[in-house]
Amino acid sequence: MCGFISILGPDGSDAIHDALAGLLAIQHRGQDAAGAVTFKDKFHAKKGLGLVREVFETKHFGRLKGHLAVAHVRYPTVGLGDDGDVQPFWLDYPVGTAMAHNGNVTNFHELKGTYFQQRNIHLSSSCDLEVVLYVFADALMRRAADPITVDDVQVAVKEVFDRVKGAYSVCGITSEGMYAFRDPFGIKPCIFGKKVTPEGTWYAAASESVVLDVAGYEVVRDLKAGEMVWIGKDRVPQFRQVANKPHRPCIFEYVYFARPDTFLDGTSVYEARMELGRRLGRAFLQTGLQADVVIPVPESARTAGQTMAEVIGVPCREGFVKNRYVGRTFIMPNDKARQATIRAKLNPIRAEFEGKNVVILDDSIVRGNTSRQIVKIARQMGAKKIYLASYSPKLLFPCLYGIDMSTKREFIARGRDDGEIAKELGCDVVLYQTIEQMEDAVRAAGNKDLQFCKACFEGKYPTGDITERMLSDIEQDRLEAGKA
Ligand code: AMP
Repeated sequence: MCGFISILGPDGSDAIHDALAGLLAIQHRGQDAAGAVTFKDKFHAKKGLGLVREVFETKHFGRLKGHLAVAHVRYPTVGLGDDGDVQPFWLDYPVGTAMAHNGNVTNFHELKGTYFQQRNIHLSSSCDLEVVLYVFADALMRRAADPITVDDVQVAVKEVFDRVKGAYSVCGITSEGMYAFRDPFGIKPCIFGKKVTPEGTWYAAASESVVLDVAGYEVVRDLKAGEMVWIGKDRVPQFRQVANKPHRPCIFEYVYFARPDTFLDGTSVYEARMELGRRLGRAFLQTGLQADVVIPVPESARTAGQTMAEVIGVPCREGFVKNRYVGRTFIMPNDKARQATIRAKLNPIRAEFEGKNVVILDDSIVRGNTSRQIVKIARQMGAKKIYLASYSPKLLFPCLYGIDMSTKREFIARGRDDGEIAKELGCDVVLYQTIEQMEDAVRAAGNKDLQFCKACFEGKYPTGDITERMLSDIEQDRLEAGKA
């Protein structure tokens, strides 16, 4: 999962300021690397490993010139995660374009051995965006005339959809304009907005609506599944429906990934998490267990913790204080490093645990590292009973569309029943949301008609083209990258 933003500002403006303001708002989507490319006479780039504020310094603003910008924060999935893989990528020839994406290409290896080999193109990175970029540019190069039109971009996007499998939303710039497109099933989010200033109208495409909020843009709308937008020299946004597949947005965005102040496809993530908490509260009441307090694991479980506690009729308390300056545990290279950082990151408040039956609520349990540590700490703090609750259902299948949980053997819930999971984690009871409750909760928060991608819970991949070979290729990538 990554985050992106592209901007087209009025002539003479510098888009980099809005691009970086937006990028900071989606830092949660990737802390591994950040980059931006602008265009004025030529492409100007600054990319590096680390957080947005570590990569960019004031001095870079001077050279990141131009009213066109594309920027990205990376959370590594495919690829080794070194600096050669930092987005955006750009080509000066045969078509000048810079691009960033969020998602995952599932036939990356296959394309390398066929499409790219036949054309004698040697990819210079292990980042799957590079294949999207080449296929797009190759198709755009074959246009009949200049300037680039919406029809030309539509042909190029279609070519990408036909050849490059997986789920990826893309945004980018050329020397003349800005484009964005959302994957055929709309698994990945992409939202479009605009801002009117005395200098003229600005347009932006981004992964989450918070990007638009903080940079002062109003939301125009989410791109539909398989839809593109192009804004060329005439500065008029032109939308085209390129693919016609059922819309299956990723439900894990609501559970964990997106910021609570974001709206995705017309649904508030905050409201969705409140509903998720309510439903799990009702499920807890049905167990007949007695709780004294709900303790959400900061940060993402906070919203659902409030409503779960309301339903159970107990207080919701901050039992853990989070040190936000410790990096994200999930992305650490191995289990030992992850466990050490979890302890450094979450410190308990004894009074909230001592002698109490506590419900500890997290958004999800993946490998179980966080939960195991948390339960251990709660015991040390004198908790009487520990009921570990997850407001997402059991994660059982790898996400092949860009969420970092790609190998099957990672999941603690795989091959274990609730009793075995509780034993493994050291808690008294473990309680999961059901898939039906989760869907119902997100729909209740806004768009009642949404049908989701739930592949990580059910193993049904909406793109319908996932083969055993792809699963094992991705697993191999993860193992080689030392992440599994
Ligand atoms: P684990 O310790 O492996 O069970 O991971 C669970 C924790 O990681 C939860 O507290 C989640 O907030 C967080 N989490 C869940 N999914 C992801 C993900 N795909 N990337 C990063 N963090 C995640």
